Amino acid sequence: MPDVFNWQLDRPMKYQYEEARPQKQIAWIFDTNKCIACQTCTIACKSTWTSGSGQEYMLWNNVETKPFGFFPTGWDVKLLEIMGPDAWKDGKFAGQTVFESAPAAERVKGHLFDADHWSHPNLGEDEPAGEAARGTHIDKLPHDMWFSYLARICNHCTYPACLAACPRQAIYKRPEDGIVLVDQERCRGYQECASACPYKKTMYNEDTRVTEKCIACYPKIEQGLQPQCVTSCIGRIRLAGFISPPGKIDPKNPIDYLVKVKKVALPLYPQSGTEPNVYYIPPVHSKREYLRQMFGPGVDVAVDTYLKTKEDPQMLGLFMLFGSTERIIRQFEVKGSMAIGYDETGKELVSVPVTEPSVVREYFDRVNQTYVHNIT
Ligand code: SF4
Ligand code: SF4
Repeated sequence: MPDVFNWQLDRPMKYQYEEARPQKQIAWIFDTNKCIACQTCTIACKSTWTSGSGQEYMLWNNVETKPFGFFPTGWDVKLLEIMGPDAWKDGKFAGQTVFESAPAAERVKGHLFDADHWSHPNLGEDEPAGEAARGTHIDKLPHDMWFSYLARICNHCTYPACLAACPRQAIYKRPEDGIVLVDQERCRGYQECASACPYKKTMYNEDTRVTEKCIACYPKIEQGLQPQCVTSCIGRIRLAGFISPPGKIDPKNPIDYLVKVKKVALPLYPQSGTEPNVYYIPPVHSKREYLRQMFGPGVDVAVDTYLKTKEDPQMLGLFMLFGSTERIIRQFEVKGSMAIGYDETGKELVSVPVTEPSVVREYFDRVNQTYVHNIT
């Protein structure tokens, strides 16, 4: 297998094919601290793409409660079992990726879940970990009793395990934007991709007998628009854009700024080796050991930086641009009290105040000669 460079592991690794990065790589930022698990994204995706026959339990986008929620059941527990104990040393991954640990004659170390595992998308929802005595005040981080929401889609990985495993070469990564797609004509339903994907984001359709997966709403991306899961997000936790290749940083690019400059957004289980392109701002109140296992060694810096957002007008302004426009923001800047987003030609798309205006109402309304409460 050829050697390729994986910047998230900070080392070269083995992969099925030569390194071939796309001209542009699609990427997302999800701020887990703002997600309310309303599942609007899940339904927006489902009603757009998976309302057909054989797709009843297919959720290209799902939102699960961590640590006890999963879709499919136990997917990350099984992944950690496959990956073995945490093996980061000084920011470098010293363990083996799913490609490097593949058994002889196989391309990826994976496993298949049965239909039962795909039948309980809400398992563990809102179930907390830890304990808190009655009357306890929540006055420190992390909390003693905690859970958080994890929104998940296909990561449109730089080194997709699904693509590496397919014996028919039915899965391809588009050179123009890095979106990973299944060629439905070539697929024969062998499910090698479903076994290989560490995130379990390729899904087998029992009716059509081919594999289907998140397509990153590519007809929208082609028009400079963000995907349905992003534009429908009630919590405004999501932003889609393009990440610069390793070694390159454009501080005006919102994705680069959060991933590479501030290092506040991290990949999910980077130890898989696929170089996933959905980047998460970790939940600040969850147990750090758990988060390190999930997002790697950058968690402490990410959480500490995020907690100082209020002191950083640049970052604060960028967060205000989340959910502010359907168009993809390629560049941003904060000028005075306004955050401004631009398209790829430098045209202004949107401008929003960095601090939302607030009005403090007097308790006694002199005009109407009455007391007002915050519910009136
Ligand atoms: S998340 Fe899974 S399905 Fe998506 S590109 Fe990566 S390996 Fe393939
Ligand atoms: S729409 Fe946004 S806030 Fe609601 S569950 Fe999805 S990611 Fe979370």
